[in-house]
Parts: sequence; structure tokens; C-alpha cells
Amino acid sequence: MPDGRFAPSPTATLHLGNLRTAFVAWLAARSSDSRFLIRSEDMDQVACRPEHEESAVRDLAVLGLTHDGDVVRQSERSELYRSAIDRLIAEDLTYPCYCTRREVLAEAADSVAAPHGARPAGAYAGTCSTLDRAGRAEREAAGRAPSLRLRSGGAVVSFTDRLAGFYEGVVDDFVIRRADGTPAYNLAVVVDDADQAVGEVVRGDDLLETTPRQIHLARLLGVSVPEYLHVPLVFGSDGERLAKRHGAVTLEDQLAMGRTPTDVLDVFAVSLGLAENGEQLTLDELVQRFDVVKLPRTVWVLPQGLAGSVEP
Ligand code: GLU
Repeated sequence: MPDGRFAPSPTATLHLGNLRTAFVAWLAARSSDSRFLIRSEDMDQVACRPEHEESAVRDLAVLGLTHDGDVVRQSERSELYRSAIDRLIAEDLTYPCYCTRREVLAEAADSVAAPHGARPAGAYAGTCSTLDRAGRAEREAAGRAPSLRLRSGGAVVSFTDRLAGFYEGVVDDFVIRRADGTPAYNLAVVVDDADQAVGEVVRGDDLLETTPRQIHLARLLGVSVPEYLHVPLVFGSDGERLAKRHGAVTLEDQLAMGRTPTDVLDVFAVSLGLAENGEQLTLDELVQRFDVVKLPRTVWVLPQGLAGSVEP
């Protein structure tokens, strides 16, 4: 059975959108008798905080979304990432890039659908791929620390998402190691999912467009490619992605308003097409009912009133 996982970045308290996605990931795993793992994507030591990891694990437990094994932390797995990066370097599949973030954005390849599928937003135009030794030396002398990019050769990757369906994208030369030496998200996630034998990746559909990169990398590393199920995000009533300013958007906020964990799960279950209003199913019943076909393919707008009354 394919293991599932939830892999939050502990940069803030989870909001109802994150929790709803975790709920889908949990239902998908449990309905196929699979293990459900939690991985803390805490590589960015500046943005991540242990208290956010603790509250994420606590929130899932309060909702009854049990997990298997210990929480795995990316910050404790540098060796794994380093050996994957070393292999790619040894196979001459990488090059140093001296571009700043601003330069990359300014030169970003057209993100509109290319003849062979979409390019991810901010796709790298390949500026540093042709730098010779002198060009590199010049930039190093100017004090620029390079990130490391994968030479992707314009690969076109397609896959069938369990919810979003067929998706095809062009893989750019994406960063696998940041200029500060930290392994990049797209590298770490592939190494981790393979190492943890994750068979099904359930996550927010903001990551759909970067998935071709991850599949391409998994193939280069010779590891198996998981199945994907990208869940549409949750928006506030103003049509923007759910955020703190939308009101009582954390589980703690909801409990403080007098709602129970079951109330919250009921709302999620209805929003996911798995229950009718007021049905109040148990988690076991929801596991029995889980069916990808029932899941909505569009964003869920948080019903007015659920997040309390907020000043606009
Ligand atoms: N850590 C990522 C996030 O919180 C999710 C990564 C993934 O599920 O692949 O957005």
C-alpha cells in the first residue's frame, strides 16, 4: 500500500486550508490501509520555528488524524541531500548560477503555456548555463555566491494527477542547492519521498506546476515516482488565498470560538463532497466514504461566518 504523508513547512501556524489538505492526505492513506507520515520541511532555519512544528503535530492529533512513526525533520537529513547532489554533480547534470532572485524574475521564461505544456512561474531562462570558466571566475571575484541548478535540457514531463487529471510541463533548470548551501525544496522533497517510500503525495495544488521538476529529478536519481493528488486551495471570501487576516483561521481560533474538532471536520467533510450538512460522521465512516471522484476540483471559499466576523 502506498504510504502517504503531510509535509508542512513550520513557518506559521497551520490554517484551515492546510488542515483540510492534511485531512485529505490522511483520508487517502487510511482508506488504502497505508501509513501516514509527518515530515517537517524545516530546512530554512531562518523562517522555520520549532513551535510551529509542535502546533502542526498537535493540531492533527486534536483532529484525530493519527500518524505513524516519528516526525521526520529535513534539518536532520543533510547527508541524504548532499549525496544526491553529489551524484548529480558527478554526472555533469548541474551548473553554478550567479543570478540574483531579481535577475531571475526579470528574465523569467514565458510562463504562458508553451507548445509542450506550461512552464512554472518564474521558470529560469538558463542565463548561467553557458558561462565559461572566465565568466564564473569574474562573478566569483565580484563576491557572488552561486546556487546550483539542474541541467534539465528542456525536458517535457507529463503525468496524471488523481484529481487534476493530465498535466504536462516543461522542466526549467531549477535550483537544487541554494546559494547559502541549503538543499532546495524540489531536491529535498524528491529525496525524502523516495527515502520514506511515500507512494502517494497529497498536497495543495499550488505545487502542481513544480511537480514535473520533481518527477524529472526522481527519474534522474533512479527512484520511483509517487502518485500525486493536488487539492485545490482554500480562499477567503475576498477571493484571495486563505490567510491570518481572514479571521479565525487556525484550529486554536476555532476551538476558542466554541467549535469542537468534530465540528471542524464536519465542515471539511461537507466541503469535500464526503458528507451532507449536519451528518456528523465519525472518522472511520469518513475513511469508508473517501473517494477521489467525490472531491471538488475547484477552490473552496471559506463560508462567511466560519472565520468569525472580521473587519474588512
Ligand atoms: N512544505 C511544503 C509546504 O508546506 C509542502 C511540500 C509538499 O507537500 O511537497 O507548502
